[in-house]
Amino acid sequence: MTVAHEVPAIPAPVSSEPLVASLASGMRLVPARVGRPGHVQTIHIECPTWCTQNHVEDWQYDIEDIEHAGASFSVQVPTMAGDEALYEWYGRVSSDPWSSDLRMREAHVLVGDCSREDARLTPDMTDELADKVIAYGLQLRAAARVARQASQGGTAAV
Ligand SMILES: [Zn+2]
Repeated sequence: MTVAHEVPAIPAPVSSEPLVASLASGMRLVPARVGRPGHVQTIHIECPTWCTQNHVEDWQYDIEDIEHAGASFSVQVPTMAGDEALYEWYGRVSSDPWSSDLRMREAHVLVGDCSREDARLTPDMTDELADKVIAYGLQLRAAARVARQASQGGTAAV
């Protein structure tokens, strides 16, 4: 069940014909494929300029299933015990224009590790997380310095 149709201020209706004059700032009109197999059609939807999703190749059953996604970035944690990374954090800008939750309709940042539900952060929450990750990075460098000196026979304070 979806309540997306009951929520006000849903994005502009889709059209099979481009209507460029009514586009909001930062939006563009792009083709998208939607429909059940055998009934897939190409429509035009408003898509934010930061979105890198190909809405034609990534066809959806219903327009309500279309989400916008920016370029993904990630950091992997390698291990000296193997060739594959043990952990990976990825992130990207995201929006779900048909969500009943206004926060999900607005551009936000998605962060995940492939192991469970993705975290969705407001820009302010993302800045706070970035500050913590930067501090974590500085602690990693300090730990590396201690380990390097210890392996060379010296000692260092953390
Ligand atoms: Zn898009």
